Amino acid sequence: MRNTITILFFLLSINLSAQINFDNYFENKTLRLDYTIGGNSDTSYVFFEQFKEEPFWGGSTKNLVDKFNFGDFRVLVYDSIKTKLIYSRAYSTLFYEWIDIEEAKQLSRSYYESVVMPFPKHEINIQIDMRNKKGEFYKIFEIKLNPNNYFIVKDKQQKYKTKKLHYSGNHNKKLDIVVIPDGYDKSEMKKFHADCKRFIGYFFEVEPFKTHKDKVNFWAVDAISEESGTDIPGKNIWKNTVINTHFYTFGYERYLTTQDIKNVRDIAAYVPYDQIYILVNTPKYGGGGIFNYYNLCSADHKQSGRVFTHEFGHAFAALADEYQYGFETAEEIYDLSVEPWQVNISSLANFEEKWKDLVEKDTPIPTPETKKYKNKVGAFEGAGYVKKKMYRPTVDCKMRSNSTDEFCPVCLRTILDMLMFYAE
Ligand SMILES: [Zn+2]
Repeated sequence: MRNTITILFFLLSINLSAQINFDNYFENKTLRLDYTIGGNSDTSYVFFEQFKEEPFWGGSTKNLVDKFNFGDFRVLVYDSIKTKLIYSRAYSTLFYEWIDIEEAKQLSRSYYESVVMPFPKHEINIQIDMRNKKGEFYKIFEIKLNPNNYFIVKDKQQKYKTKKLHYSGNHNKKLDIVVIPDGYDKSEMKKFHADCKRFIGYFFEVEPFKTHKDKVNFWAVDAISEESGTDIPGKNIWKNTVINTHFYTFGYERYLTTQDIKNVRDIAAYVPYDQIYILVNTPKYGGGGIFNYYNLCSADHKQSGRVFTHEFGHAFAALADEYQYGFETAEEIYDLSVEPWQVNISSLANFEEKWKDLVEKDTPIPTPETKKYKNKVGAFEGAGYVKKKMYRPTVDCKMRSNSTDEFCPVCLRTILDMLMFYAE
């Protein structure tokens, strides 16, 4: 009996969270919360910066509460008396990557960050949680907001033109990707549009996007840079560009990012969006993708088309890199008593919760990298930057190398689930 009551209560609570009526709580525009996060490898602090109102809500009006347990952070929005969760979204950040590097043991530094949510009709409570190394979330920040507060910034953006690059319909019912140019000067907007066309072409050649072309909108904001190109600090090249992208993030030459989040968000807000893609006008190999944060890709390297979808795997579906890079064994960066939260790598601590359902009965776990299992789903050693004790689903995948144009079945399933969450 007790079990029945527990199950009933469980079903009821799921049901409640699934039935948030958008119009009861929100207006169809965006509330942005900007903050600075500072700290080091031991501690993190959040400092409030500003609230901002933006004209469009690009997200779903149906799927408001995040059903995936991904990301290094999550934002939770409650009603005023904190009895009902009305919106949530998980995400990762550059700061979270930084606290793992050597520098964070000697230095404290800060990063500007930002989260968006639909604009509330009534007072709300916003909470930000961060994940610890055991994979559990804990609260790092909380703030109340009355939507009539006159400090909510309402600056109108009118500097740049926008363009529909690929349009399938109402942005509340589609996955909306905004493409922002960086390092295109005023004579290069035509090149930017041609580059967008080329990348959208590559994008729709890859499954599951190929089959679901009608669930995606692509938008462009023609943000013009003073100079052409991007910063390459390791080669002492510096360019004055609109959102200040640069190579050599954390000392990795090919890691292309920007810390100019405030500008990125201000420019993205010209159109409705769920995902931000920054196209960087350079032939140099590189890119970056951080979950629900942003994607970056260089425009003119011969591998750029494949990098474009790989980075999207990170930023859209929170997929891990399936390759080895710099670390010999998993203990150096993972707690092997738990599974990493990324769906496409496994420590085998609890393989049941990962992709075991996709593995055929006669495939051994771990799986040897032999001809017999070349096209099978298993658990192949070497993933998530480490050579030993971390496993990936197949021999090759877009999240592992640029030699294939396909996501493995685990990555594919996750991307598809996410796509359906955004597009009805
Ligand atoms: Zn994969």
